[in-house]
Amino acid sequence: MPARRVNPHRVKLHRTYSVQELADCLGVHKNTVRHWQGAGLAAIDGNRPTLFDGKATRAFLLARQTSRKRPCPPGTIYCFGCREPRAPALGMVEFMPGKGATGNLAALCEACGTVMHRRANMAMIAAIMPRLAVQIRQAP
Ligand SMILES: [Zn+2]
Repeated sequence: MPARRVNPHRVKLHRTYSVQELADCLGVHKNTVRHWQGAGLAAIDGNRPTLFDGKATRAFLLARQTSRKRPCPPGTIYCFGCREPRAPALGMVEFMPGKGATGNLAALCEACGTVMHRRANMAMIAAIMPRLAVQIRQAP
């Protein structure tokens, strides 16, 4: 995952962009645009200067972003050690209430033992963590 994510919606749909214009528009280096070209961002044709269609460019960037997503199904929390959603070890989850109705769920990864965290609404715990023992800790 890059340190800085681009916003695909900065690209205008009905415009064409040169490599430098696209780099300026998205706040990246022009080599990043060339890297995208190697990764599948199609130019309008093979001629110079290389031009990119705004609509195709936005679709390419949005597809890249959504392909990186790892949505957590119910009963799992994203583990930064494994880089994928994992079930809590021993079925134990701890809920630390925050402000209002929300709080943090914390559990150990079943695969690697890393502490995993997930934001949750207190009323939604039963839906997010079905069949798991959620221990609610009082704020100190
Ligand atoms: Zn893990």
